[in-house]
Amino acid sequence: MAKKRIVLTFPPSLVEKPLTYRLVKDFDLAINILHARIVPRESGRLVIELSNSSEENIDAGIRYLEEQGVNVEPLSKEIRWDEKECINCGACTAVCHSDALRMNPETWKLEFDKDKCIVCEMCVPACPLRIISVTF
Ligand code: SF4
Ligand code: SF4
Repeated sequence: MAKKRIVLTFPPSLVEKPLTYRLVKDFDLAINILHARIVPRESGRLVIELSNSSEENIDAGIRYLEEQGVNVEPLSKEIRWDEKECINCGACTAVCHSDALRMNPETWKLEFDKDKCIVCEMCVPACPLRIISVTF
């Protein structure tokens, strides 16, 4: 199964268009919405993961979005967490809305699920030890 994580930024004129519906219907893509900030009459931002058995379908879907005027960028940044230095205070979990950072209720240790991370960077300043960083 081919997968791509991308960041979509679109102008107000496209906010109410059924773009994700067309990706599913016309390109047979499965869409996992990782993060959405869409306000009617303002620009929108979506972080999504597209998957299909063929990478060509994914690329065709991305071309379709660009033709509609959507800015498409790969989600290429990554969060780095220095686990050895972590004191498991949990401060970073309060700002992680995607649940990528969570305290294990049995061990009370921090766990990081990279697949859920949308690289919003909110956790970087939230850590008092500054042991979370962004890599490119
Ligand atoms: S960047 Fe940090 S706060 Fe944002 S989703 Fe990833 S782990 Fe959570
Ligand atoms: S805020 Fe920093 S020290 Fe505290 S749990 Fe998160 S990564 Fe660990």
